[in-house]
Amino acid sequence: MSTDRPRRTLVATPIRAGDPARALEQAELAAMAGADLVEWRLDECFRGAGDREGLDVAAMLVSRSPLPCIATCRLEREGGAYAGEDAERLELYERLPGLDAPPRLIDVELASLERDDRFRAAVERLAGRSAAPDGAPGLIVSMHDFQGRPANLMRRLADLRAIDGASVLKFAFRARSLRDNLECFDLLAERDRPMIALAMGEFGLMSRVLAGKFGAFLTFASPTRDDATAPGQPTVSELLGRYRFHAIGGRTRLYGVIGHPVAHSLSPLVHNAGFESVSHDGVYLPLPVVPGWEPFKATMHALLAHEALGFAGASVTLPHKEHAARFAREEGWRLDADARDLGAANTILDERVLNTDTNAIAACVREHCDGATRALVIGAGGAGRAAAWTLREAGWSVAVWNRTPERARTLASELGVAHAKDIYGAIVDAKLIVNATPVGMRGGPDPEGTPVPDDLLASSPADAVVFDTVYVPAETPLIRRARGLGRRVIDGAEMFVGQAALQFEAWTGLPAPEALFDRAVREELAETRG
Ligand code: NAP
Repeated sequence: MSTDRPRRTLVATPIRAGDPARALEQAELAAMAGADLVEWRLDECFRGAGDREGLDVAAMLVSRSPLPCIATCRLEREGGAYAGEDAERLELYERLPGLDAPPRLIDVELASLERDDRFRAAVERLAGRSAAPDGAPGLIVSMHDFQGRPANLMRRLADLRAIDGASVLKFAFRARSLRDNLECFDLLAERDRPMIALAMGEFGLMSRVLAGKFGAFLTFASPTRDDATAPGQPTVSELLGRYRFHAIGGRTRLYGVIGHPVAHSLSPLVHNAGFESVSHDGVYLPLPVVPGWEPFKATMHALLAHEALGFAGASVTLPHKEHAARFAREEGWRLDADARDLGAANTILDERVLNTDTNAIAACVREHCDGATRALVIGAGGAGRAAAWTLREAGWSVAVWNRTPERARTLASELGVAHAKDIYGAIVDAKLIVNATPVGMRGGPDPEGTPVPDDLLASSPADAVVFDTVYVPAETPLIRRARGLGRRVIDGAEMFVGQAALQFEAWTGLPAPEALFDRAVREELAETRG
C-alpha cells in the first residue's frame, strides 16, 4: 500500500490540439467548469503540419495553458494521432521544460520507453521522478488497451513499476463489465507511487467517478460531451456537478441503477441531487449489466463482496427486475410482499428487495381518481403486471389487454383479474386506463403512437383518468390526446418521481425531497425535448 497522500484526486481535461484556437477555448471552458489540469493532446499538432510548425503550436498551447498541464504526444497505436519518429518527439520533450510555463507532467507510453533504451534515457533525463526541484516536469508512464483488459495486465504493471523514473503510473483498458472497475480499485490500493487506473467504455464510468475514493492521482473529464478523448469519459460538469466528485471520500456509499441500457436513466440525476440536499454521503451511478441471470448474479456478488466499495443499494430496471427478486430468494434475503408476489423487484438495499413501482402507482391513483371502480391495463410486461397487481390490491376491478393476447391471459389468470379480449368493450366503462407499454416513448418501438386509437380513447367515459407510465417525453402522444379530449391524466414522470422517492427513503431513512426530484426530472425532460 502506498504512503503517498495526494491532497485530493485531480480532475484533468484532455484537449485535442488539432485546432489551436478551439483548443484554447476548450481549456478556458474546462478551467471555468472546475478542472485542475489540462492534458494537451499535442499529437494532434503534428497532423498534416510540418514538424517545425507542429512544435511551435505545441509550445504555444503549453505556454498559454490556463491551467497547469500535462503534455502528451500519443502514438497512433496507443489511441493517439502521432505517426512520426521518436527522435522528433524527443525534440518536443526537449523544448517543453524550457518554456516560461513548462508542463507539470509529460506522459510517455511504456511501449515507447521499452522499445528504445536511448529514447528512454533521454526522456528520463528531461522528465522524471526526481526532476521536480528545478521545476522540470514529472513523468507519467502509461499504457492503454482499447480492446479489453490485457491478458498480461499483471506483467505489464510490473513493467510499469520497473520504470524508476516514473513519477505517476497510468493504465487504462476497455472494461468488459462492471467487475473490471473493481480490479482497477484493487490495483490502486496496492500502488507504490501515484497511479491512474481507468476502465474505459460503457462499463467504466465507475472507475472515473470513484477515482478519488480509491486515491487515484487523477481522473479525466471532457470539456463537452462531443469532445471526449476516450470512450466513457464524463464531462467536467457531470463529474463535479451531478456526481459531486470532490465530495466523494473513502466512506462514501455507492448506489446506482442496474439495467441495460442505463446510460440515459434519470435516476442518477434525482438521487445525486437528493443525497446532496440531505447531506447523505452517497453517490449514485448508472450500473450497466448485460441481459441475463448469470451476468446479474456475478455482478451482484462482486459488488457485495468488495468491502471498500461500500455498495449500499440499487434501483433495478429492465431486464433485471425478475433477477433481483430471484437473487433475493436464493440468498435468503427479505422480499417485501409486492416483490414476492410479482416475482420482480426494482429496489435493492441491505439484504432486502422491494418494488416501489407498485406503491408509486397506488399513490398516483389515490391522488387523481375518485374511487376504485373499473380499470383497464394495457400491456402485460413488468409494468402491466405491477399496475394490475396494485390496482387489484387497492380494490379495483381490473381487466388486462395486450397486443399478444396469450400473455395477457396468463397474467390475468395468475393475478386473478380479467383478461380483456375486446379492448373496445373494456374501454367504454373503464374509469382508469393505464398504458403499460413503451408505445409513445422516445427512442422506443413506436414513439409517435398511442396504445389505443383516438376514436377508441374518445369512447372512454368522460370522467375517466388516463395514466401513461411512459415518462420520456413527459407529454406523450397519449397524454396529449387525452388532455385534448378533456380527460384527467397522470403522467409517467409523476410515477417515476414517486418510485424514486420511495427508494430514496428506503436507503437513507429520510423523507425524500420530492419537489426537488419533480423539478429535476421535468427540467431534464424539457431540455431533451425533440
Ligand atoms: P416489458 O416487460 O418489456 O413489456 C412491454 C409490454 O409492452 C408488453 O406487454 C408488450 O406486448 C407491449 N408492447 C411493446 N411494444 C409494443 C408495441 N409496439 N405495441 C403494443 N404493445 C407493445 O416492459 P415493462 O417493464 O412492462 O415497461 C413498459 C413501459 O413502462 C416502459 O416503456 C416504461 O416507459 C414504463 N415504466 C415506467 C415507469 C415509471 O416510473 N414511470 C416504471 C416502469 C416502467 P407484447 O407482450 O405483445 O410484446
